[in-house]
Amino acid sequence: MAESGLRICFLGVLDDLCGKRFWFLQIDIITIFPEFFRGPLDHGIIRRAREAGLVKIEVRDLRVHTRDRHRTVDDRPFGGGEGMVLKPEPLFECVESLNLATGDERAAAKQSVVLLSAQGRRFDQALAAELADLDRLVLICGRYEGVDERVGMHLADREISIGDYVLSGGELGAAVIADTVVRLIPGALGNEASTRQESFFAGPEIGGGDLSDKNVRPTQPDSTCASGGLLDYPHYTRPAEFRGMKVPEVLVNGNHEDIRRWRRRSALEKTLRNRPDLLDQARLSEEDRELLAEIAASAEQ
Ligand code: SAM
Repeated sequence: MAESGLRICFLGVLDDLCGKRFWFLQIDIITIFPEFFRGPLDHGIIRRAREAGLVKIEVRDLRVHTRDRHRTVDDRPFGGGEGMVLKPEPLFECVESLNLATGDERAAAKQSVVLLSAQGRRFDQALAAELADLDRLVLICGRYEGVDERVGMHLADREISIGDYVLSGGELGAAVIADTVVRLIPGALGNEASTRQESFFAGPEIGGGDLSDKNVRPTQPDSTCASGGLLDYPHYTRPAEFRGMKVPEVLVNGNHEDIRRWRRRSALEKTLRNRPDLLDQARLSEEDRELLAEIAASAEQ
C-alpha cells in the first residue's frame, strides 16, 4: 500500500478507536450511483487533501437503505404526472444512520445536510466558504423528477443549486460542491494565499488594511492583489512569444509595482466586461476607482 494510503488507514483507525475526528471536514455523499464518484474525487487537489487527512469523503449507496427485493428507491408521483420521485424512507434512514446531531444542535455541531436541487439557493464562493467551515457536510443527490418534498422540508437543512439549469441528477452538483469546498480547507492548496487571489474571493486583502486608503497595498509584490470579489487577472507562462502572440511586456520587465497595478487593472477590466454585477458588491479601493475611470476613458477613445 502507498504511504498516503497507509496514512488514511491510520487516521481511520484512530478515528474509530478514539471516537474523535482527525479530519478537518467529513463529506458524506448520498447517491444511487456511487460509482459516479470514482473519477472526480480521485484526482489532483481533492485526492491530495484526502490523502493528507484534511478531508474524509464517504460515498453512501442509497440502495443499502431499501428493504425490498428490488431495492426500490423511487415511486410514481401523487397527483399523477411524468416520471418518478425518490422515496423518503431510504433517504431518511440513510441520513439517520450517519449519527448526526439533531434539530437545533446540528448547526452548533457544525454539521449540515444539503439537498442538491435546481430549486435551491444558488451556490457561490461565499457559500463554499461557509460550508468549508463545517465539520460535517452531507450531500443528498436527487434523481428522476426529483425528491419527495418531505426530504427538503424535514431532513435537509438547506437546498443548494449549482446554477440556473436542470441536471439529470445531483451527482455532478455534489462533485462541484465537494471540489470547491475542499480547496478552501487550510492546507489543501499548499499556499493559503492562492485562494485569496482567485476570482470571487471577497475576504480582506493580503496584508489587510483600510481599502479606502489608496496607499494600502498587499504586503508581498509576488502576491499581487487579492481579488476582493472581482474576477481573477489574466495569467501567462512561457514561451514569451507563441505564434506571434506576445506576453504583455509589463509581466516580463520585473517591476513588481507595475505588475501589481497591471493585474489589478486587468481584473477590473475583465470583471466589467464579463460580470459587471460583481462590481456592485466588490471591495473597491481608491486606486480601483481611478483604474475604472482610466478604463472608461480608454473605452471612449
Ligand atoms: N423536476 C426538477 C425541477 O424542475 O426542479 C428537476 C429534477 S432533476 C431532473 C433531478 C435531480 O437533479 C434533482 O433532484 C437534483 O438533485 C439534481 N439537480 C438538477 N438540477 C440541479 C441544479 N441546478 N443544481 C443542483 N442539483 C440539481
